[in-house]
Amino acid sequence: MPETLAIDGGTPVREQMLPYAHQLIDASDVAAVTAVLSADYLTTGPAVEEFERAFADQVGAQYAVAVSSGTAALHAAAFAARLGPGNEAVVPAMTFAATANCCRFQGADVVFADVDPDTLEVDPGEVRKRLTGRTRAIIAVDYAGQPCDLDALRSLAVEHELTLIEDASHALGACLDDRPVGSIADLTTFSFHPAKQITTAEGGMVTTDDADMADRLRRFRNHGISVDHRRRGELNSWFYEITDLGYNYRLSDLQCALGLSQLQRLEDFLLRRAEIAERYLAALHDLVQVSPLEVLPRRRHAWHLYVIRLQLERLRTGRDEVFRALRAENIGVNVHYIPVPMHPYYRDLKPHPTAWPVARSAYESILSLPLWPGMSNSDVDDVAEAVHKVINAYAA
Ligand SMILES: *Cc1c(COP(=O)(O)O)cnc(C)c1O
Repeated sequence: MPETLAIDGGTPVREQMLPYAHQLIDASDVAAVTAVLSADYLTTGPAVEEFERAFADQVGAQYAVAVSSGTAALHAAAFAARLGPGNEAVVPAMTFAATANCCRFQGADVVFADVDPDTLEVDPGEVRKRLTGRTRAIIAVDYAGQPCDLDALRSLAVEHELTLIEDASHALGACLDDRPVGSIADLTTFSFHPAKQITTAEGGMVTTDDADMADRLRRFRNHGISVDHRRRGELNSWFYEITDLGYNYRLSDLQCALGLSQLQRLEDFLLRRAEIAERYLAALHDLVQVSPLEVLPRRRHAWHLYVIRLQLERLRTGRDEVFRALRAENIGVNVHYIPVPMHPYYRDLKPHPTAWPVARSAYESILSLPLWPGMSNSDVDDVAEAVHKVINAYAA
């Protein structure tokens, strides 16, 4: 098995694989979930609203609607924005596929926009070029955890009467100036997958300041039913109406209790993530074959990912070989992302006249290093040591 052999044929830097992401669950999380298990409501109970209220306050939004995943959050946002057959959304090429898939769920077309080479954030100039008479929404992504150019995108949205949806799956806790992510776009979506800043196992949230949108989001996650069950209870009535085609995208009370408990520690998680990023920056500074992404001013970065770019002209090999060599050192590196339009589903969908050369070329050189708040300094140092070892072995 040559792929398990370290690059020098000797022992790998670590004995056991260091994952690229991992949740951090403590006794208070376990107690919060256990309490719900013996309470009256396992789902559609009081923990849902409690989590939503705390989350809305955390991100400075009027409304927060909890749903069963980050993907469900994007789908609900696409519905709230009235994406549908005949209209289009502009989506960055460099993101997770769900950012684009949510448009397809609603029958809308996806138009891909290229990203900035130094940050991999969507380029507002490229978004502008992609706007047509059929554009209904822009979906922005806070790649790696730092807010993208939301002011420019917001101006575009206002000027062209579009809905700005922000996929902030990477960016819970991030800020642009003093504005928290979640309070800036028309609709902001979050994911609580275990790799993200806080987890509910699976889960997501949509925030908005618009009461009508919040109403649409709540209906959408509950079969399109117009009156919720407790309101029916208050009215003592069996009556309800399906006013839209909705889904069961509810988040259970077990999960909301976990989310609420995790939210209490968000600040600690963010501080640790930032420390780890600082430590990587310092430890890899001397390697000319590797560069970090640019960190933009006026922002608090939520550090979901620590992405390095390989300077391929200074190496005798490509990203794939460096990836394999780091895995052989038991470092759980990853690649975020294969540009969405390169996936067969999108490639075959229809020929879009758009190009995204920056995302395509960035894809050839990026690697995500392990980053999660439970990592020790010595874990970080192991990663840096392995990167030095592998890069020096391949240096041109
Ligand atoms: C994680 C993620 C999603 C999907 O979230 P799930 O909770 O896994 O459904 C969507 N977009 C981006 C950018 C993500 O990182």
